[in-house]
Amino acid sequence: MSRAEPLHLRARWIVPVGRPAIEDGWLRIERGRIVALGRRNIAGSGRTIDLGSVVVLPGLVNAHTHLEFSDLERPLDAEGGLPGWIARVVALRRARPTGLEEAARLAASLRAGLAESLRAGVTTIGEIATAVPRGGYPPVGPRLRVYREALGLSFRGGVLPGVVARDLDRLRGSAGISPHAPMTVSKALGRALLRDAAKRGLPVTMHLAESLAELAYVTGGGGPFRDLFATLGAWPADRPPPVLPPSEWIGRLARARRGSVVHGTFLGEPPDPTALDRLARHRNRLGLVVCPRTTRLLSGRLPPVERFLAAGIRVAIGTDSRASNPDLSVLAEARELVGSGVTSPGEALRMMTSDAAWNVAHESLAGSIAVGRPADLVVLAPSGPFSDPLDAILHPDTRVAATLRAGRVLHGELPRA
Ligand SMILES: [Zn+2]
Repeated sequence: MSRAEPLHLRARWIVPVGRPAIEDGWLRIERGRIVALGRRNIAGSGRTIDLGSVVVLPGLVNAHTHLEFSDLERPLDAEGGLPGWIARVVALRRARPTGLEEAARLAASLRAGLAESLRAGVTTIGEIATAVPRGGYPPVGPRLRVYREALGLSFRGGVLPGVVARDLDRLRGSAGISPHAPMTVSKALGRALLRDAAKRGLPVTMHLAESLAELAYVTGGGGPFRDLFATLGAWPADRPPPVLPPSEWIGRLARARRGSVVHGTFLGEPPDPTALDRLARHRNRLGLVVCPRTTRLLSGRLPPVERFLAAGIRVAIGTDSRASNPDLSVLAEARELVGSGVTSPGEALRMMTSDAAWNVAHESLAGSIAVGRPADLVVLAPSGPFSDPLDAILHPDTRVAATLRAGRVLHGELPRA
């Protein structure tokens, strides 16, 4: 089909997010953008496809994942919680090939993760990268915010490591920066990373307060992380680590134009009790991403989303990676939260669309259906009759029938006009 020719999509429900759902709705796409939407009678000429008894949503946003692990068949063993799991991630990375062989593995894993995301209805991704392929990410697929991650306890100061700066140049307009986590990033490395983010105007993200072991390590230097890092040779056990608690990181992250805190499960708990209040104070710049199934796997509980929402923080859903999660479906994460009574269906919807787009600094392009925006859409097909579109979206038998990015079908298919 010609992309210049106007196309109308008609659906039983269109759920734009940010405005009421439209029953018997339609939307008009021209040159990959939404140019009109309405109810019942279509205004304007052009082809029309009737999608039938489906729900059309803005393409979903996965605000946090690590696609480098998309080639794993199943999550790594979670015994020992976060410290035990991180030891297994380090072992996995050390066992990988090097050079061209690893470059090929990484490229294949990224492609697999992007394709899986499209099958799950995801058109925008907040991706964490420890390496960026020479040619950047594949040009066709979900919209990306790629946060170049860095970690290290022995960095003493100076300019940003050259390999990080090179990867940021490769990423161009989709770049972001991520200091990995409080227990793995020295104060000096964090300072260099965040100074560069501010200078380049890049959004930032960081794993914070994911476990009590993290809080113990960054406030006193003890606990399972001390043993782990001593074993790995990352930091000598007889010296205090040069690290900061989450509350200190929040103040530093808030100097970027936009940022997100990932997990935050133990934010505000002793021995760092002010962290959640600090995040709430910076809520115009910093949001929070939860990864429900990963938190349940590694911490034995779901994230305290109600506390974050009560503090006025914009909360997004992420899947985290295939190293801690069975798939890359944000719908499955939302079903987990709503099914456990942690959030309402309406809250879960914003957490995987508009608020997730805000968290990855793509809110002007993604997260809602509106005139002038790219036609990034997901078509959800319920398995039977339904009356409430939110119920249909969250029903486990509902299928992703098609995923469109800028008006192009990248997964599934539409009926013929
Ligand atoms: Zn993560």
